[in-house]
Amino acid sequence: MKQLHSFDNQLFLPDMELVDTYRRHLNYLRVSVTDRCNLQCIYCIPQGKIKNLPHAEVLRYEEILRIVRIGVHLGISKVRITGGEPLVRKGIYGFLGKLNSIKGLKDVSLTTNGVLLKNNLDKIKTAGIKRLNISLDTLNPAKFKRITRHAHFSDVWDGIMKAHEMGFAPIKLNIVILRGINDNEILDLARLSLDYPFHVRFIEYMPIGDAGIIDGQTILTPEIKNRLHQLGELTVVQNKVTDGPALRFKFPDAPGEVGFISAISHHFCHTCNRLRLTASGQLRPCLLADTQFDLKEPLRQGYLDRDLAEIFFKAAGFKQREHHLAGNRPSKVAGQMSAIGG
Ligand code: SAM
Repeated sequence: MKQLHSFDNQLFLPDMELVDTYRRHLNYLRVSVTDRCNLQCIYCIPQGKIKNLPHAEVLRYEEILRIVRIGVHLGISKVRITGGEPLVRKGIYGFLGKLNSIKGLKDVSLTTNGVLLKNNLDKIKTAGIKRLNISLDTLNPAKFKRITRHAHFSDVWDGIMKAHEMGFAPIKLNIVILRGINDNEILDLARLSLDYPFHVRFIEYMPIGDAGIIDGQTILTPEIKNRLHQLGELTVVQNKVTDGPALRFKFPDAPGEVGFISAISHHFCHTCNRLRLTASGQLRPCLLADTQFDLKEPLRQGYLDRDLAEIFFKAAGFKQREHHLAGNRPSKVAGQMSAIGG
């Protein structure tokens, strides 16, 4: 019989951890707090008018906090806040502070495009966030505008520099390389790891939603890695168990690192420990498969924590062994990245 635990003075939860069919322990929840963004990156959001979720469809902060508390009881120890752009949501800094004070949660981090970073780093620090992932696909302001459809390069760059000065570490720079767009900057971007203690991470483009990127524009890790040989020999940096899926490397004497997130060419599904909570309250076992389980309606209908915990277990049970975006019969993900949370 399941042991029951009292929780939040009102409810009872099963004393079990989230382990999927393939014995992967799911201890990492990525939470999208909004589908709205102040950029419109060409590989992420389709051109033209974007239909955002109506406000009522977006989980309220207290709803997210309740879901995270349940997740933590079931073994979630790490949460990353993402979006859309998390910093455009009103009240985000207070929410981050509350999230960070959830007992049992060991690590809370933030993924941002950096546009609003510079003037809000104090609040992010006060909220207890130490680690930041910042997206930066180019070092060229004109190209930044072409990729993101907005002219905010210097805001982002200043934000990165200020975060570095304030001691946020590690600062991970997320880069999606597209042929004919920013592939001529692979070396310049990697060079940042020679000048700063940044983790420069090349992320393979994933076919999610309708961004309209065509096959010829995508570049996989082996090609990027090959090009980097011009800068020196890359030596492997050993991943810790708690590290994400990036394969990590270093140039000789570099203060920073270069990493590759190769979801297509070398998927890391066998080590995947993640669940995702979308802005609209759907629990998703895999970024790259459209199966999801609604938490929002049950939560709003007054389900008890233990009933919501059952939805976590159901999602864990549906986590497939691996995604099907590569190989002989590649598929596509219908959901939009900005709503699911990258
Ligand atoms: N707005 C925040 C940001 O820009 O970092 C967080 C959300 S964004 C969706 C998170 C990450 O997903 C970014 O680093 C972005 O480059 C990446 N991303 C978006 N669409 C992608 C795609 N189709 N393939 C690979 N990475 C993608």
